[in-house]
Amino acid sequence: MSDSRSDSKAPIPCPICSSPTEPAGVRTGKMLNVEFRFRHCPACRYTYIENPATDLAAIYDEKYYRGQGADPLLDYVNELEHPDATVREYEWRGVLETVSSLVPLNTETQWLDFGCGNGGQVRYVRGHSPCRAVGFEEGWVADLARIKGIPILKQGDLPSLKGSFDIVTAIEVVEHIPDPLDCLKQIRELLKPGGLLFLTTGNAEPVRNKVARWGYATPEIHVSFFEPQTLQRAMAATGFRTEFRNALPGFTDIIRFKILKNLGIKRRGIFERILPWSLLSRMANSKYKVTAHPIGWAI
Ligand SMILES: [Zn+2]
Repeated sequence: MSDSRSDSKAPIPCPICSSPTEPAGVRTGKMLNVEFRFRHCPACRYTYIENPATDLAAIYDEKYYRGQGADPLLDYVNELEHPDATVREYEWRGVLETVSSLVPLNTETQWLDFGCGNGGQVRYVRGHSPCRAVGFEEGWVADLARIKGIPILKQGDLPSLKGSFDIVTAIEVVEHIPDPLDCLKQIRELLKPGGLLFLTTGNAEPVRNKVARWGYATPEIHVSFFEPQTLQRAMAATGFRTEFRNALPGFTDIIRFKILKNLGIKRRGIFERILPWSLLSRMANSKYKVTAHPIGWAI
């Protein structure tokens, strides 16, 4: 009995910096009736779910990608069928603008969209830049995209592509990953030295000490929450030089998509087009600080 008591008091090390972590609240899933436990690392400010869902096939199924699962704001199937009509096009356009402000794009440029979902970003980059773009994704929606002719790699394709890419994007990916260091290492191995990692994820700094109540913290699917300093530390530990660029071109469109998605607006239209997006995006960014995360350059 004394053993189990001492075990329960043993420090739980941070998956990123190995410092002791502390409990940071609980939240019951809406989709799974499970009490998810949050932990926080005061040293690197990483917050994560200690007991993430393990039956991923049951979560990332057809319903999830149709917006009928853990994230009702998703619209992956429609985006695939009607790319010109979806508000997601603003995100695709913004990511391309951001990346092209950081790396010159030409016919030799190899771009991997890691965790590409339905491959919409890949298709957009291929259609609007000279890059050679491919995606990486597993699961149901990737099979659907492959049928549409979007090149999407599987896990088994990655080992032979180490050191191949000039650019890796990971748009709203790392928050789904219980082991972010492992994911960042994998991305680093895929990049050429000097290659760019551009990622987006929620910024947990404005909600410090209340991450478990944050709207973004849907615990079935979002399990890792970063402040900019957390990502800086994680990238530095996995072979990246980090750089804080804050207001990069393209972020107006990226934030525009986030606002529209969170309002439940999925289709582009006259109403949303007349709004002053430059101003609205700056206002949203001053509250949520989504542009504060670092970019990474492969060392
Ligand atoms: Zn830590």
